[in-house]
Amino acid sequence: MAVQKEDVRDALRSVPAPGTDGDLVSTGALQWIALCENTASVKIHLPESTRPAWESTASAVGAAAAGVWESSGRGLDSLVVEFVDDAGTVVHSVSPARSLRTPHPPADKAPGTGPSSARPVEATGRHPAPTPRSTASALPGVDRIIAVGAGKGGVGKSTVAVNLAVALARRGHMVGLLDGDIYGPSLPTMLGLGGMDVTTHGGRLQPFVVHGIKSMTIGKLVDPEKPLIWRGPMAHGAFKQLTEQTNWGDLDYLVIDLPPGTGDVPLTMAQALRLTGAVVVCTPQRVAQDDAVRAARMFQQLGIPVLGVVENMSYFVCEHGVSYDIFGRGGAEQMAQRLGVPFLGSIPITPALRINSDRGDPSGNFAAGTELADSFERFATNLISQVTLESMRAGSSRPTLTIS
Ligand code: ADP
Repeated sequence: MAVQKEDVRDALRSVPAPGTDGDLVSTGALQWIALCENTASVKIHLPESTRPAWESTASAVGAAAAGVWESSGRGLDSLVVEFVDDAGTVVHSVSPARSLRTPHPPADKAPGTGPSSARPVEATGRHPAPTPRSTASALPGVDRIIAVGAGKGGVGKSTVAVNLAVALARRGHMVGLLDGDIYGPSLPTMLGLGGMDVTTHGGRLQPFVVHGIKSMTIGKLVDPEKPLIWRGPMAHGAFKQLTEQTNWGDLDYLVIDLPPGTGDVPLTMAQALRLTGAVVVCTPQRVAQDDAVRAARMFQQLGIPVLGVVENMSYFVCEHGVSYDIFGRGGAEQMAQRLGVPFLGSIPITPALRINSDRGDPSGNFAAGTELADSFERFATNLISQVTLESMRAGSSRPTLTIS
């Protein structure tokens, strides 16, 4: 029987809340529990003055949670304890389960191997792991796969992919995020995965559960300082294994951050899975639009529906609320019109977005009432509408038999 949130909540009644006479649950310090099979993430709000006690609190949470999994006859593979401030921003993150894991390493991971040397995917091309062959490209249990692409790098493709995934999860969807940008993986930084190790279970990669989403990135399987120089087929092999060997479980959406451009690698990756559709990220300038048009055409030529274009770095709102049009706001919307594809929204240039990305806290982009949060929410709403329309279109193209 799978572990339930209530079981974890009950166990956390035994963990004292520092600075009080009570426990994490009765004092209201426990804010949020997310479970995905044998991975868990917990959010705790405690006053800043109690910070010296956070590590020991996280260890106690880890011990209590591990006990719950143990009594259900399972093992807790990964746990993240996040400490949030008054605004709900993650200010400290601990992964105590690493010290609680079984002393027997998984069969496919030698003792003492770290993230840089773990090799469950074909990171170097010399030690290929067996790839399960799937007859269909669709992933079992995953309802919709949405690729986020861009005509060139640096336009905010990864930023958009991360925040789209978090926005969908905040609406209660089960969401996975796959870092397909295998040449320049950004997820370890943008999701704050720094202190976490990849774990495997039954020979499959366990996704990281943070910010309400499950995620996987090649960036946690290779040395982050080494350049990833892969030829097309190797890159494709690594992507395929990362996609198929991750234990996603049931997902409503899997968002894939594709490599930029329209070269062989993004093209082959986009083809590898039966995508629900693709989102093209673009900045407003004319030069960026030309690249984005090529990206949109690539998806169309592959028969992948373009769910829409999103304009990033659209405009800048200063601290006095004055909006500045830096790159030519609206350029991407006009381009979308020319292409005959939907326009999904504009994301403003926001220093906080860059700061939250650098410190691995996308949840910080959703502070209520901010222009940034509203822009991501509008984008997610428009995307969901397009996905629904696309499903209806796909459904209506199937022949139906009516008997009267
Ligand atoms: P790409 O994936 O297209 O290469 P990234 O998502 O990595 O681009 O973004 C590049 C840089 O720009 C990152 O530092 C990111 O934080 C920053 N950035 C992206 N979009 C915005 C924005 N709207 N406002 C401020 N900074 C942004």
